[in-house]
Amino acid sequence: MLSRLLFALFILLVTATCGFWLAGSSGLWVSINGALFALLVLDYVRGYQLEKWLRQGEPHSLIKLTGFWGELLDRIRRGYKIRDQSATQHRQRLQEFLSAIQASPNGVLLLDEEGRIEWCNQTAAAHLGLHEQRDLGQHIGNLVRDPAFTRYVAQGDYSNEVIIDGRSNSFSQLLKLQLQLHPYGENKRLLLTRDVTARAQADQMRRDFVANVSHEIRTPLTVLAGFVETLQSLPLSPEEQRQYLDLMAVQAHRMQGLVSDLLTLSQLEGSPPPPVTEAVDLKPLMAQVKSDAVALSALQSDEGLPIHTLTFALPDHLHVLGSRAEIHSAVSNLVNNAVRYTPAGGKIDVVWALDTEGQAQFKVKDDGVGIAPEHLPRLSERFYRVDRSRSRESGGTGLGLAITKHIVQRHGGSFHVQSEVGAGSCFSLVFPSARVKIETEAALALASEL
Ligand code: ADP
Repeated sequence: MLSRLLFALFILLVTATCGFWLAGSSGLWVSINGALFALLVLDYVRGYQLEKWLRQGEPHSLIKLTGFWGELLDRIRRGYKIRDQSATQHRQRLQEFLSAIQASPNGVLLLDEEGRIEWCNQTAAAHLGLHEQRDLGQHIGNLVRDPAFTRYVAQGDYSNEVIIDGRSNSFSQLLKLQLQLHPYGENKRLLLTRDVTARAQADQMRRDFVANVSHEIRTPLTVLAGFVETLQSLPLSPEEQRQYLDLMAVQAHRMQGLVSDLLTLSQLEGSPPPPVTEAVDLKPLMAQVKSDAVALSALQSDEGLPIHTLTFALPDHLHVLGSRAEIHSAVSNLVNNAVRYTPAGGKIDVVWALDTEGQAQFKVKDDGVGIAPEHLPRLSERFYRVDRSRSRESGGTGLGLAITKHIVQRHGGSFHVQSEVGAGSCFSLVFPSARVKIETEAALALASEL
């Protein structure tokens, strides 16, 4: 600024001197006025250039000014640059913020004062069947027509959430959504959506389980209570009393079996997978399973002789790494089922074998009643029975296959079933090679010496 003042004074001095020298005192005033006018015009031109440049609003377009105006231009340019940088930073931050909301497993939807959609993330769009761009500006009530949601919006109390059926790509899966509105800003609302299908299913399963257990226990309890009442109120002969007590014992055993299976299931669920440190020798285990199966088969005949042909095959020295009690429970459930669901004269083959990948396969094949294909996927569900009365008659709890599948999965293996009505069934368990061990003769000899 000072240099500019000095420059103007210098010009005035030079022109005044020249004017005075050429035309005396009148030349002095003319030259001073002329110089002032020229300086004014120069300033005006530069000011105009700057004003035009500012009006165009293109801070990056080229313009060159010197002196005071040049400095002003530089300062304005620097101001523009800082503004641009801060705008870019804000844009980046907004983008990151939006990406974070997009990545959220929950749906987020912004509604204006009228309830029109201002913005929504992909999850909210997928949950509610909306189009992320096309449905912007649409009223939420026109797009989400579930009556529970309409009531929720109308009542205006958003302290609790509402559960509605969501849209799913797969027809087989029913989606359950939890929606909650949160007011913010000036009469705006934030809608959060959450997929609670798994939780709803778990709740339903828990309710079904409690209902099933109550039902299973109530039936034998009612029968028992009836017999007790009869024994108390009627004068019965000793023979009749014995008959009643036998029937009561059957019901008591049924309840015992049910409680014991329920305890097994809860223990399996509450404990970590069995370690691979225990090698279960299958030979003695299968000998026990075989004698129990023969006894069970014999129980079904009046003569006390087995009514099925049972064959057992097992490779030498095969061991499975895991829990002995659990493996015993899993295989005996399958063998006992084969005995229970195969009519007299039937054939049951029980085989342990190693496959080419080193996995141990356990198979129980029978030529019994068989199972229709529609039942196969649900067979290992708790309390699922194909023939309820047959299961009860033979002392079934409806939990055997659920326990078996749980056990094999805890050992890293898998459960399979093939069956045909009237032709028989084949249940198999596959244990992964990491859980299989073949004890060599030398190792066995060493172990027996020790
Ligand atoms: P349950 O105690 O009723 O036998 P499970 O869980 O062991 O319960 O078996 C579930 C159902 O699967 C049984 O009720 C029966 O209908 C069917 N099932 C199991 N094993 C066989 C088999 N070997 N042959 C025919 N049906 C079977």
